[in-house]
Amino acid sequence: MTDMSAASQIYQSALSIIEGVEPRIAAATRQELADQRGSLKLIASENYASLPVLMTMGTWLSDKYAEGTVGHRFYAGCQNIDTVEAVAAEHARELFGAEYAYVQPHSGIDANLTAYWAILAHRVETPALAEFGVKQVNDLSEADWETLRKRFGEQRMLGMSLDAGGHLTHGFRPNISGKMFHQRSYGTDPTTQLLDYDALAAQAREFKPLIIVAGYSAYPRRINFAKVAEIAHEVGATFMVDMAHFAGLVAGKVFTGDEDPVPHADVVTTTTHKSLRGPRGGMILAKQEYAADIDRGCPLVLGGPLGHVIAAKAVALAEARTQAFRDYAQHVADNAHSLAEGFLRRGANLVTGGTDNHLVLLDVTSFGLTGRQAESALLDAGIVTNRNAVPADPNGAWYTSGIRLGTPALTTRGFGADEFDRVAGLIVDVLNATTPTATATGAPGRAKYTLAAEVADRTKAASAEMLDRFPLYPSLQL
Ligand code: PLP
Repeated sequence: MTDMSAASQIYQSALSIIEGVEPRIAAATRQELADQRGSLKLIASENYASLPVLMTMGTWLSDKYAEGTVGHRFYAGCQNIDTVEAVAAEHARELFGAEYAYVQPHSGIDANLTAYWAILAHRVETPALAEFGVKQVNDLSEADWETLRKRFGEQRMLGMSLDAGGHLTHGFRPNISGKMFHQRSYGTDPTTQLLDYDALAAQAREFKPLIIVAGYSAYPRRINFAKVAEIAHEVGATFMVDMAHFAGLVAGKVFTGDEDPVPHADVVTTTTHKSLRGPRGGMILAKQEYAADIDRGCPLVLGGPLGHVIAAKAVALAEARTQAFRDYAQHVADNAHSLAEGFLRRGANLVTGGTDNHLVLLDVTSFGLTGRQAESALLDAGIVTNRNAVPADPNGAWYTSGIRLGTPALTTRGFGADEFDRVAGLIVDVLNATTPTATATGAPGRAKYTLAAEVADRTKAASAEMLDRFPLYPSLQL
């Protein structure tokens, strides 16, 4: 059992030492804790890592360069980073039942980029080595590359559309993946707003992608990965799943069987800081045949591994292997269900009519608001959410018509089904008390609004009462 009063002393001392060097950083760090403690955090992609995870990041493991892989580094003296990386990878493999784990990616974007290059290497470069009679990629001549570029110039990717809940890194233009791949997206059924597997299969047969990506940032439902794998393999595509959002539910065995991506996908990427509740970072799990190509992630795509963060991943993964984490993951899903039921009972509209994962997508058009107005009004009342497009969003990706809400963070604080039902009530009250401000022409604007002050105050008081009952890092007297 960790002595948490010791943790309190450690952080007090650390902050006063930092204060002596750059007081503004110490002050911002203290303030961030106060802000996090005092807000109702419903951002679906955020969480609160444990103190052991946070502490593991604050060490001299950060000082070591260790480009390469375990036992095969381009720098001398990497034996301790080797230990750290091997332990993290071992936990990842055992927790998720994966054949291979690569724990170096610095973020989710890095994990996806590394995975894409590895898949391309596996699908394109490796066969080319034999064809062109060379031993390694660097030996391919410019003429060989010219031939390869022609053949694979249209590297095709099929990913979930943004307004159905997909992510920018799944082949969209603002991200490098949209420049690497010729992308088409699959959406959801216009009536049910659910993933339409038959439509996806038809699109895959016609488009013949090199990669099919499943996974999402804002789709409030589970995916049958066995079905998508069947489609991918029928059309000769590599099947990649980005489980950044729901990795905690996979780790916690809430998603099992066909809903567990690891046995079905060729490559699975994730972040480690969302529902998985680890340090900010990324990770790749894969079938063994991809290992050698993924291992080239550093230096192909990534810089030197972050030893201190990989160490914290190992600690978080060790935590995720406990029964306590499984209970947590189940509570995350149960609480999302309670939040959704709370909205539906109060007459609000939800994309897909509910949830069976960790997030809820509230369509705010019935309140006469845009997502941007709703997000800002909720923030004024102390509720932190983020606006999000809904399928076929009439307000576009900037103003949007939705609010995305997730349960991982407040579940970590201890919120249960009753509290989440109450949160739904507070949100509905705030949105009912928010009115769009008319533009010069008298039409409702898409950004400005007014929120009744007494409702904002009442909401803040109700939130404060709940937050006090479930303190964040209760053992830290800071
Ligand atoms: N993939 C998905 C599905 C995500 O939701 C996110 C983050 O929002 C990412 C990748 C990128 O993660 P990061 O911010 O760590 O780069």
